[in-house]
Amino acid sequence: MSGGWHEECGIFGIHGHSEASNMTYLGLYALQHRGQESAGIASADGEVITFHKEMGLVADIFSEGVLARLPGHIAIGHVRYSTTGSSELKNAQPVVVDFESGSIAVAHNGNLVNAHEIKRELEISGSIFQSTMDTEVIVHLIARSRKERIEDRIVDALNQVRGAYSLLFMTRDRLIGVRDPHGIRPLALGRTKGGGTVICSESCALDLIEAEFLREVDPGEMVVVDPRGMQSYKPFLPAVERFCIFEHVYFARPDSILGGRSVYEVRKELGRQLARESPAEADIVIPVPDSGVPAALGYSEAAGIPFEMGLIRNHYVGRTFIEPQQSIRHFGVKIKLNAVRDVVAGRRVVVVDDSIVRGTTGRKIIKMIRAAGAKEIHVRISSPPTCYPCFYGIDTPLRRDLIAATHTLEEINTYLTSDSTRYLSMQGLHACVPNGKTTYCDACFSGNYTVPLEADETEEQLPLFRGSVRV
Ligand code: AMP
Repeated sequence: MSGGWHEECGIFGIHGHSEASNMTYLGLYALQHRGQESAGIASADGEVITFHKEMGLVADIFSEGVLARLPGHIAIGHVRYSTTGSSELKNAQPVVVDFESGSIAVAHNGNLVNAHEIKRELEISGSIFQSTMDTEVIVHLIARSRKERIEDRIVDALNQVRGAYSLLFMTRDRLIGVRDPHGIRPLALGRTKGGGTVICSESCALDLIEAEFLREVDPGEMVVVDPRGMQSYKPFLPAVERFCIFEHVYFARPDSILGGRSVYEVRKELGRQLARESPAEADIVIPVPDSGVPAALGYSEAAGIPFEMGLIRNHYVGRTFIEPQQSIRHFGVKIKLNAVRDVVAGRRVVVVDDSIVRGTTGRKIIKMIRAAGAKEIHVRISSPPTCYPCFYGIDTPLRRDLIAATHTLEEINTYLTSDSTRYLSMQGLHACVPNGKTTYCDACFSGNYTVPLEADETEEQLPLFRGSVRV
């Protein structure tokens, strides 16, 4: 499924609220960090499903007028980021389809690893696909199921797929949330003041609409909300929990709760641990905003070195920023970040960030801090080296483009032009996240892909490490 790999998404669903689509709009606003390329909302009033989706940011897509055309007491919404190739409206979600037993809308966060194989089989037997999304495979499987009830059809379909999925389904009168048996992507459950039910990617979306955070949806759990209330099922074979450790490191918002702990607190602890493992003789600790802020605070605290904002971020630069002319191309990262000369000049600086992907941003940042007069620059990263791509819903480049996959620590330090570079150890990372060691997917750091990958899915991505994939 071309492009199916490079996806990051956020989902939000609500049942039992007179302004369901307005609430979903707000929820998606709070989840915008999980995807910035397209957004959509589908709503239901007990009779019909209506939907609207477009390329762009939530705030630009949904005007008052658009939301007024999404009536009903149930709604689901989706934000999506995907790299080029699959960045098209036909791949935006929710996916809304009609089949013999009614209409259904689906919003998916995560990635299936056997979508290729199923798609091929379905096409041989006559199915026609309209998008390149793996989510459409689920829809086809639901439509083909011989089961009576929609819940059973969904279970039937999901029993045939493998991979990461936090899913929301909406029919004309119900909202259904499902989390894959490994619980790879997050899913939170909440209640509005008026007694409505919310199921969404992160608890920060509940805060915005003043809903109470009840709990996280369990791995392998299906929550069904219909006019009679809420039921919970565990219809799948149990599996080892493998929550994505990178949600704690970078992806989730720091004001969300994951695994019962504040993401902000976990990131701060990662910073403290990093300081214990890799101290530096320095005058100040500065974060790369915003990704490195909590870890830098923790590092500063544990190292006893003052925290300063040595880099300032321009908050008005979107991901879609296009540099207007060839002549100013070289400004690069300076459009987004600038060093504060008075903070860094003449000082020995520890620069903290959560991760290094290609290393290109880091190199520009180090050069910028050096040009602003820093005496020494020590890079500290609050996670282990990112050596492997993600197949379960985090956007990562090919393995050959991950600097840590192809370079030694010394070479990375030379490339960054820093005086020293250190990463957090794997043990250190696992010691800081809730519930300790074995319960996480850390494949981006370890290459240990707990949901086995299909050869087809990996071919293009992994020429460098075929040997270590557990197929
Ligand atoms: P790079 O220049 O490619 O090394 O980018 C490093 C920056 O990207 C760090 O500041 C990270 O916080 C951020 N980052 C890490 N993972 C991702 C991701 N999956 N999507 C977007 N940004 C990321």
